Amino acid sequence: MSSTVGQVIRCKAAVAWEPGKPLVIEEVEVAPPQTMEVRLKILFTSLCHTDVYFWEAKGQTPLFPRIFGHEAGGIVESVGEGVTDLKPGDHVLPVFTGECKECRHCKSEESNMCDLLRINTDRGVMLNDGKSRFSINGQPIYHFVGTSTFSEYTVVHVGCVAKINPAAPLDKVCVLSCGISTGLGATLNVAKPKKGSSVAIFGLGAVGLAAAEGARIAGASRIIGVDLNPKRFDEAKKFGVTEFVNPKDYDKPVQEVIAEMTDGGVDRSVECTGSINAMISAFECVHDGWGVAVLVGVPNKDDAFKTHPMNLLNEKTLRGTFFGNYKPRSDLPSVVEKYMNKELELEKFITHEVPFSEINKAFEYMLRGDGLRCIIRMDA
Ligand code: NAD
Ligand code: ZN
Repeated sequence: MSSTVGQVIRCKAAVAWEPGKPLVIEEVEVAPPQTMEVRLKILFTSLCHTDVYFWEAKGQTPLFPRIFGHEAGGIVESVGEGVTDLKPGDHVLPVFTGECKECRHCKSEESNMCDLLRINTDRGVMLNDGKSRFSINGQPIYHFVGTSTFSEYTVVHVGCVAKINPAAPLDKVCVLSCGISTGLGATLNVAKPKKGSSVAIFGLGAVGLAAAEGARIAGASRIIGVDLNPKRFDEAKKFGVTEFVNPKDYDKPVQEVIAEMTDGGVDRSVECTGSINAMISAFECVHDGWGVAVLVGVPNKDDAFKTHPMNLLNEKTLRGTFFGNYKPRSDLPSVVEKYMNKELELEKFITHEVPFSEINKAFEYMLRGDGLRCIIRMDA
């Protein structure tokens, strides 16, 4: 057993002291895990838009100082009381949304929206005692979505930890903690395109490109990428996108353009933009009789989805998904296996790498729209 079990660990963490200000690498104290918690040693983490959104804290209750980060790979250091399915040394991916395995959602085959551990961006503390496990000279530092992976050690609820194949390279599979699994699962688990079918992907960011990767894996013959930014198409070709449509190039709605290209509509569409107009277009561009549209993007607070009900009567199906319908503990290990057996390609999502000491560079890349995922190496 390691000598740190049951002890407070002092380690480096990147602390966000104020909204929108560069993170500062500090020495923090990480308390031992309590009931149903595990303490992880993080080896690799990556940056996602959600971290940046809450770090900028525009329009939400700001919880600062805070340790962000939710895409990561690591190793279990120690486990708290009641944890039976993880042990020190296990290789894991922490996940921002959990699976308690007890609630009605976890027991349903159809849902991954756990009652206990569903994403909560306002909490900032652990469920067991309503307190933080991080502190600096006695001052508590808030958690973020129960993961806080911008720290060499973190404490996470066992329900937010997926145990994976120890042979999987954590510097690659860490990106499966959030956005990439979301897009991939939206296609493979929800849209479910048949081999040879046509799929439209709205929004070619990391999530949309993961949805395109899902369409490629499913054997779609036409993958139509839709984005307002023409620069996105070059990158998208690597992900199997065969055609590109920029709505700005036409003076009619993009759903009409797609209907003309595909003899009435695509078989499947996946929306990964967060734009309400793209959501409506993504729904209306599917073929009547069998088309399925899947919404992934997170809309603005006051948005409303407006379409003519005839579209539904004409047998177009509208669906939405959270985290690609994957249950984190039950399903993520098999997504890692898809990478291990070379079905799923992850390298093409990883466009940058920085040492932990330069974590602010990862924020700069994302704010500039440069690349897809930046891996942050904790040991450097
Ligand atoms: P991103 O900003 O990198 O990419 C979005 C892309 O959409 C951009 O290339 C942009 O040019 C394009 N776009 C914007 N408006 C458009 C429009 N009207 N028509 C066509 N293209 C348009 O974002 P991302 O990280 O790939 O995330 C995509 C969305 O998925 C976000 O809304 C994010 O919040 C959401 N998301 C949802 C879940 C979930 O579980 N449902 C999980 C993670 C992320
Ligand atoms: Zn549950």
